[in-house]
Amino acid sequence: MDLMEYQAKELFARYGVPVTLGRVIEDPADAELAAAELGGRVVVKAQVKTGGRGKAGGVKLATSPEDAVGKAFEILGMDIKGHTVHRVLLALAADIAEEYYFSYLIDRAQRSYLCIASTEGGVEIEEVAHTNPDAIAKIPIDPAVGVDEAKAAEIVAAVGFPAGAEDVVRRLYDVFISEDASLVEVNPLVKLADGSLEALDGKVTLDENASYRHADHAGFEDKAAADPLEAAAQEKGLNYVKLDGSVGIIGNGAGLVMSTLDVVAYAGEPYGVKPANFLDIGGGASAEVMANGLGIILGDTQVRSVFVNVFGGITACDAVSNGIVQALALLGDQADKPLVVRLDGNNVDEGRRILAQANHPLVTVVDTMDGAAARAAQLAAQN
Ligand code: GDP
Ligand code: MN
Repeated sequence: MDLMEYQAKELFARYGVPVTLGRVIEDPADAELAAAELGGRVVVKAQVKTGGRGKAGGVKLATSPEDAVGKAFEILGMDIKGHTVHRVLLALAADIAEEYYFSYLIDRAQRSYLCIASTEGGVEIEEVAHTNPDAIAKIPIDPAVGVDEAKAAEIVAAVGFPAGAEDVVRRLYDVFISEDASLVEVNPLVKLADGSLEALDGKVTLDENASYRHADHAGFEDKAAADPLEAAAQEKGLNYVKLDGSVGIIGNGAGLVMSTLDVVAYAGEPYGVKPANFLDIGGGASAEVMANGLGIILGDTQVRSVFVNVFGGITACDAVSNGIVQALALLGDQADKPLVVRLDGNNVDEGRRILAQANHPLVTVVDTMDGAAARAAQLAAQN
């Protein structure tokens, strides 16, 4: 999970990394009071999970609280590289003497951590790498040792940071390790007019595999930005990804679902029909899981038909068929789109018999995967 700048700075503050926190607002009208309370010249910054906000006009200095309203009005609603700005950060403007680049990341090839830093910060580091590669220092970090006093001194010397930067370097490492981050990037890390350092921007990627030991990380999730169907699916423990098409897809096993997406995309091509989602209901597809999955898919207003593609393994086809029949009964009137079901594998004959006997008006059974994909695509095109 990637954090927004203001969230990254909140995290930095907990570890004593110098930052200016400020206020986050969503309505330009709130900018005047926020700026007045901050009590000085403020910078208004778009909060979106992408870099280059400055270049795109998403970072602006305001000369007065009234001006802050104008700047917030300009920035809120802006599109920056496909990200709509819903929030801006207002913070007291820093008096910058120099801008540096600093980061910790995982070097997978070397099985170690890596510090990449430069005194040429503020601009995109890729650009520095291109124009002035010698200005970038790369210092490997042994994970078993970490950034101790000696390592911090080595980093500061290698980059050419001012004396005293060791403290910030060590605190940022503390953030990186203690928060189970896979990336901590500060661009710019600035030297202020008084010679002290401050993290003026922050990019943090948290490792979601470690979220079980960070109860507070859930609070960083941007629930409003998440797709409502994906959020509902996540709550039900379903492996669901919303796509843009009109054929709802349910399958058991990620590999089978991936190939189902392919055959549906192929079959739908003549009609401009595409898969509506990825949904893997896993090996033990009970009636309840099937009902939950169908419920999510039928809740997608773009869906015109549903393709249920199941290969009976540990959970045999008869159990899956019973699941489908019960799920349709559970859903009642909510089930209102045609279902194309393809079953194969363990106990396939019994599975097909159960569906034939149930004779549900919405269900069509097709024996082959390609045939079922073609039928589902046709139904989506007709509806
Ligand atoms: P990014 O473009 O998305 O990386 O956004 P940053 O937060 O890095 O801001 C871009 C640039 O705006 C920085 O490199 C600074 O030059 C400038 N900037 C950001 N905050 C301040 C501030 O508080 N005071 C001043 N004077 N400049 C700022
Ligand atoms: Mn930046």
